[in-house]
Amino acid sequence: MGLTEVAAGVFELRLPIPFEDGLVNVFLFKSGQEVDLLDCGMNSEDSLTAIHRALEQLGARRLRRLVVTHIHPDHYGAAGALAGEGLADLYMHRLEVPLVHPRYVELEHLVEEVRRYLLVHGVPEDEAEVLSNSQRALSQVVKPADPSVQLDGAELIEMGAHVLRVEWTPGHSPGHICLHEAAAGLLFAGDHILPDLSPNIGLHPQSTPDPLHDYLDGLRRMAALEPRLVLPAHGRPFTGVKQRVDALVSHHARRLDQVLEIVGREAKSGWQVALDLWGPRENLYEKRLALQEGLAHLQALAVEGRVTKLVMPGSARWRSS
Ligand SMILES: [Zn+2]
Repeated sequence: MGLTEVAAGVFELRLPIPFEDGLVNVFLFKSGQEVDLLDCGMNSEDSLTAIHRALEQLGARRLRRLVVTHIHPDHYGAAGALAGEGLADLYMHRLEVPLVHPRYVELEHLVEEVRRYLLVHGVPEDEAEVLSNSQRALSQVVKPADPSVQLDGAELIEMGAHVLRVEWTPGHSPGHICLHEAAAGLLFAGDHILPDLSPNIGLHPQSTPDPLHDYLDGLRRMAALEPRLVLPAHGRPFTGVKQRVDALVSHHARRLDQVLEIVGREAKSGWQVALDLWGPRENLYEKRLALQEGLAHLQALAVEGRVTKLVMPGSARWRSS
């Protein structure tokens, strides 16, 4: 896979995502013999070979810094192979830092927490068992690294010959960041704004408490920056951020109305709502994402006072207000 120069001294490299049959775009910023990298793909042989070949092609003597938009495996997976002692400095948002260990290193606690969480939201016991264990596979393509710098958002970071501002855009992940270069009108959007897909926004034990509102707020803030070109982590670079943001915002508005319609006078579990919304799913990973996405919409509706959320030990239910 080759390098494409997307701006002066900025190169896009497309890396394979083994079991999703997709590609993730990472960006190399060159300055002299040093290169900085935004996102790093999964920890797989193919992916790392492509990165090393790209560095060679750019005449890089070393990788100076690695910035990750968030800790999902396709963005952060190879961090431990590229950053750390004697390697690149890793920069990430501080809300991503505590997610790493329970997710990729010591999974038992999180698997159990997710299992209980699924039961609370109405998932039958046998399915909860399988679904909570489905995250184990992901830990195999991630080699974690400790950050050298923890970001809050609003920092300026030098990437190659460019200076970019960190924009904290929670929702898809609590510490998701975009990088913005005002002078050139570039927005490196990670998974926050994709051209073809609506990124998964889910409520789960590692999410923020109201991820959908967080996400929508971030979309509006990024649109207000009026970038000339958006460089997403999946799909092709695109212009017209305002139209894309409008489309994503109205997609979620429609979904909120649909969820509101499904929730009736009678209290329902998140699982029932998700089944009504999407119908039964075969793929386990999709099932969990569907539940979490349904819950994010229910939570947003509850925050707005449009549905009522009822909780007891061992159960959470939703009904119309
Ligand atoms: Zn992601």
